[in-house]
Amino acid sequence: MRDLSKCVNNPAVSSEGFVSLSTATHRASTIVFPSAQAYAERKKRGPDGFTYGLHGTPTTRALEARLTALEAGVRTALVPSGQAAIAVVLLTVLRPGDTVLIPDNAYPPVRGFAVNYLESRGIGYRLYDPAQGADIASLIDDSVKLVWVESPGSTTMEIQDIPAIVAVAHARGALVGCDNTWATPLLFKPLTHGVDFSIEAITKYIGGHSDVFMGSIAVSTVEMHRRLKDTMRMLGMGVSPDDCFLVLRGMETLGVRLQHQGRVALEMAQSLVGHAAAERVLHPALPSCPGHALWKRDFLGASGVFTVQLRSGFEAGLSDALTAMKMFSIGASWGGTHSLIAPMEISGDRQLSTWNASTILLRISIGLEDPEDLREDVQTLFARLEATRSID
Ligand SMILES: *Cc1c(COP(=O)(O)O)cnc(C)c1O
Repeated sequence: MRDLSKCVNNPAVSSEGFVSLSTATHRASTIVFPSAQAYAERKKRGPDGFTYGLHGTPTTRALEARLTALEAGVRTALVPSGQAAIAVVLLTVLRPGDTVLIPDNAYPPVRGFAVNYLESRGIGYRLYDPAQGADIASLIDDSVKLVWVESPGSTTMEIQDIPAIVAVAHARGALVGCDNTWATPLLFKPLTHGVDFSIEAITKYIGGHSDVFMGSIAVSTVEMHRRLKDTMRMLGMGVSPDDCFLVLRGMETLGVRLQHQGRVALEMAQSLVGHAAAERVLHPALPSCPGHALWKRDFLGASGVFTVQLRSGFEAGLSDALTAMKMFSIGASWGGTHSLIAPMEISGDRQLSTWNASTILLRISIGLEDPEDLREDVQTLFARLEATRSID
């Protein structure tokens, strides 16, 4: 073999005795085949086999397997973001003439996808009140093929009666997809409640370190996984093994992170109940939060994101007070190790009359800093809001 060939050739290297607790990062565009016949028959390997790097390497499969086990599912598909997970489910299930039901409090890009992409392709959507349980049956006509749920709902944190919705949806031939990002499969397992698609924005708690985008879709049948993978293949969609490695590593501490963050978040939420500047504190583990009884019935614990609705008149000094915070950064993509706060003006996102408050909501994501530092920072914020209150 000449030098130029040696430059691209891998001599045999023994890995005997090398056993690591870490998952190897297997990168590949091309997968090579042992024979021309194996190449000709590569489609027979199916969605679980290795045929092309975009559709999975052993690193991708390692993460899929971990998530499948946690979700109590049969297969999991990985996609480049949480929003991609939502889009792939909708594109897999819905055909022209079909309708998807979306809760009014869903992550706003869900409705964005329905309005800006699906509608012009002949796929309709209808919004529903997230407080609806079995009575959602009246909205499920023959055109409804998918009911989307998100519990708790984005920012306003309502818990949905998912088992009741699943029962009536299935009775009428519709599938159910659930955005489980707040709970993660540690605190709620949608598939065990009959949901057909459990999607996670891995970007948030599961990745957990604010440095990777990914989404997952867990399902209960091999056939549904094949349908998802068909959609992804047509869209040329896959994830990087390097990103999977980051998620595999970040996920090892998910349990201790979430337990700590949930406890600190709930303590902070409780301490803000009754504060002059707080109209309402919205965390499903608080008895005053809508859906608390359902949370107690169905969920396995509290997560670390909650919302404070400011009382009218207390927004006057908000911008300066947020900018002055020492521990909390201002940002949207919650669930990491750094605490975040985001002022949300959501009235434009809501179409139904069930949420009509126009004051600012503060969405708070608890990180891993010392809880005492976080408490002081939040106390200072609320003291500033009181001091700058505008008299109306
Ligand atoms: C952030 C988020 C998403 C989207 O995740 P990306 O990875 O940022 O696309 C979806 N659903 C919920 C509830 C989210 O909070």
